[in-house]
Amino acid sequence: MQAAYDNEMEIYIHIPFCVRKCLYCDFLSAPADASVRRNYVLALKNEIIMRSYKEVWPAGKMPVIPSVFFGGGTPTLLDAEDLADILELIKERFNVGKDAEITIECNPGTADENKLAAIRRAGFNRISIGLQSTDDQELKRLGRIHDYSDFVKVWEASAAAGFENTNLDLITGIPGQKTADMIRTADQILSLAHRPKHISLYSLMIEEGTVFKQLYDAGQLDLPDEDEERKIHWEIIDRFEKAGYKQYELSNLSLPGYECLHNTGYWTGREYLGFGIGAASYLRGIRFADTRSLDEYINYWIPGAEVKGAGNISEGFAASEDRFFGPLSEKENLTESDMIEEFMFLGLRMTKGIDTGEFKRRFGKNVEDVYGNIICKHVGEGLLVSSDNRLFLSRAGQDLANYVMSDMIIDKKMNL
Ligand code: SF4
Repeated sequence: MQAAYDNEMEIYIHIPFCVRKCLYCDFLSAPADASVRRNYVLALKNEIIMRSYKEVWPAGKMPVIPSVFFGGGTPTLLDAEDLADILELIKERFNVGKDAEITIECNPGTADENKLAAIRRAGFNRISIGLQSTDDQELKRLGRIHDYSDFVKVWEASAAAGFENTNLDLITGIPGQKTADMIRTADQILSLAHRPKHISLYSLMIEEGTVFKQLYDAGQLDLPDEDEERKIHWEIIDRFEKAGYKQYELSNLSLPGYECLHNTGYWTGREYLGFGIGAASYLRGIRFADTRSLDEYINYWIPGAEVKGAGNISEGFAASEDRFFGPLSEKENLTESDMIEEFMFLGLRMTKGIDTGEFKRRFGKNVEDVYGNIICKHVGEGLLVSSDNRLFLSRAGQDLANYVMSDMIIDKKMNL
């Protein structure tokens, strides 16, 4: 199988801290005091150093890094100096491209103009702000820490700090939300002085272990029904498209030229290396993820942290490939079937779908050789479209994406 990209790799940094937990959130994030955050930063730096040694990347084999993404959690809960230090270290140890896209996620109420200006000066050139809704009642129902006026402050501060490449996260399907409420949110965003270049439009999911799941099980969550939610979703997409945005993925729209490079790489099979608890990586056909335990992570990457409270970078480590992985929560060598499935699952998330020629190039066979009957079935149902050597989901197919994707799971007993 051929690689998707010649010697390119993305970097993801997970910052697992939040002011408090939103009621719907099952991300790996929690409140933490300053000393835990300080230790985490030290551990992260150690992990970055240990995974960048020349034993791992022989001379001339260090990939180019086209994008770095600081996600969470709430990365802007860290001090600007810490964020700058981590980014500096990544640039020092990895081959970050001159024009790399460097994104930081930010929540309203966690950064002012000075902090955002320092972050921008440090080299971050894209900011993604978790707004979710412009309606204060909806924000309250979600358990967000901010109201709309907090967002306006951080939005203006990010523009003043020089962030031109911007994303806003929005959620549809909020309890009690009607189509008109969401349209109001969209219109308010379109009337902002600095329009966002990119919009991520997520559907609320009820996840295990969240307060919303408990309320849902107790019958106390007034969710829009599925048809209503899909109607809201498409109304909003149409509204943004009329204003010049283009939907390019199931949940993402952008103005021309502002598609998220980092996520697009992920959907098209670029390799990535994650740092921080729970961070996933995909490298040399191996998919792995760091431990999800903060204690285990800190104790491993800062030997003696428990005793000293904070360790020195690299202290106690010998540079070796064994040390590359550290404590993991998952590690799997992908088979060809896994890679084909992933190519389909991720590729079909994009509105342009998969390139059937690229499938052949990578896997040495036609997509029809693997999925002929399934493609026929879903094209017949109007869920998949086959055109100009591409295969993509129709709007009806996007609404039923899980159903279509589940058919792409390969029976491992099949002889490919
Ligand atoms: S701010 Fe984001 S990561 Fe933090 S609790 Fe809320 S939804 Fe989860």
